[in-house]
Amino acid sequence: MTDNGEKSKNKVNTPQNFLKMALYEKENSPQKAIEYCNLGLTLPCEDDLTQAELFETAGDAFFEIENFNYALDHWQNALNIFLSRGKQPRAATILIKIGKLYEAIMDYSNAESHFLRAGQLFEEARDSNGVALCSYYAGSMYFNNGDLHRALESLLKADERKTESDKRHYQILIGDVNNKLGEIHSKLFNFEDALKYFFEAMQIYNYLDYPEGIITVMNNIGEVFMKEGLYEEAETFLQDGFEHAKQSSSRLTELKYLINLSELHAQRQHFQEAYSRLIQAYHLRDMIFSQTLSKKITDIEARHEIDKKEKELEIYRLKNIDLEKANSIIKSQNEELQTAYLRMEQLAQTDPLTGLSNRRNIMEKIKLEHYRAQRSNEPFSFLLIDIDHFKVINDTYGHDCGDRVLVSVAGLLTKHLRKIDIISRWGGEEFLILLPRTGKDGAAKLAEKIRSVIEEAPVASCGNKIFITVTIGVSVYDRSPSVDQCIKEADEALYQGKKYGRNRVVVHKNK
Ligand code: GH3
Ligand code: MG
Ligand code: MG
Repeated sequence: MTDNGEKSKNKVNTPQNFLKMALYEKENSPQKAIEYCNLGLTLPCEDDLTQAELFETAGDAFFEIENFNYALDHWQNALNIFLSRGKQPRAATILIKIGKLYEAIMDYSNAESHFLRAGQLFEEARDSNGVALCSYYAGSMYFNNGDLHRALESLLKADERKTESDKRHYQILIGDVNNKLGEIHSKLFNFEDALKYFFEAMQIYNYLDYPEGIITVMNNIGEVFMKEGLYEEAETFLQDGFEHAKQSSSRLTELKYLINLSELHAQRQHFQEAYSRLIQAYHLRDMIFSQTLSKKITDIEARHEIDKKEKELEIYRLKNIDLEKANSIIKSQNEELQTAYLRMEQLAQTDPLTGLSNRRNIMEKIKLEHYRAQRSNEPFSFLLIDIDHFKVINDTYGHDCGDRVLVSVAGLLTKHLRKIDIISRWGGEEFLILLPRTGKDGAAKLAEKIRSVIEEAPVASCGNKIFITVTIGVSVYDRSPSVDQCIKEADEALYQGKKYGRNRVVVHKNK
């Protein structure tokens, strides 16, 4: 038994025991899990399935701390072993994890091919629910990228392939498939179908007593009612779901509810209530932000324990455990320490007023997109947005109110752009947006949508219903001279737009 801490650790350090300890620590301390896995992997091991599980668990822990390169290496090792042992479903599960990793770093074509390969393996193993699971993940990814057509296709396939199962995660999958189909129909304005799927999902989640699902789907139902103008029904679901969300562990979901409730009250012209929900949302957002920050700090502190661990490793060396492996553990931990510092720096790259990326942060994202675009020969675009006559707003309503208008505009941009787009506060009342994998037509369309959304939506601020307009300069990077030049072109287009009378979109004439 491993529950007797230190004593048993010294008594039996077999790969199996290190695996048990790693699995036990995985949730709470990924660093410790990694350490145990590495120790387990240094020992000679007759059972290569245990080895595969050690690789898989280490991969999971690396993914948890966002060390994607190491996660990928470890999962790849696990995958090879599972494949060579004919463990198709286990291999497929790893392929799904790798797919999700690629999705997280926005390499969608790699993500897609991993989901597809996983689906084939499940097919070979005659695991129809496994096939459904892969279609679900692929569909969710298409959905997040705004490709509703392919999302629908994949989700319908998932719906068709799912079968009854004793396994809870497959039972939850049936609810998730319904929920996602509802989300797609909601985006397609098929509100009746959307509600049908959402209520089906809710019934399943209720039956399974799965609060996470219930909270998600109630928010979705509330949103549909709101879009249909059925405000009382919307309020019932949003308010009820919000109470559930407050008791859950997900502060982000709670935040989503607050934002929706605020929007609902604004639509009903209950501005006082809308404003107070929004303030609650800002406080919550700050709290989430500082909690993430303090978690990172704890992570770093944990990494400072490396010194101590060095001494532990000395003892292992005396026990004839390969010194080289021990050193590589220290090395990997040092590298992690560095990643943690980098991440801290990243956190400092957010604009405090709007929560958007700041200039430095978007420049980094642009570098990555530039690199990707060069490899794939795909264009990307910039929108440079400047609020028209913003000085007048400051002069009329005061600087604080001006600040709140900036926050509202940031909210509108976040709401109406795609998830893959990077939105930044470029300067005072200017926003620079990076549209990955988007050419001239797509960029011009998005720009026009943003322009009209902002023109039509009053930015509720300080008790005044303020209407504003923006001018947008668009430029396209298509193997043109340089990224900086391309941003300059967006600026030139913006300047033209101002000159021609504002409240318009101008695409730079070079493209
Ligand atoms: P236009 O762009 O249409 O030419 O006119 P404008 O009035 O928007 O442009 P201008 O560049 O003359 O003024 C921008 C104003 O934005 C001036 C500055 O006080 C204000 N501003 C810049 N940063 C902030 C901020 O963080 N908060 C607030 N409230 N105002 C800001
Ligand atoms: Mg300006
Ligand atoms: Mg301006």
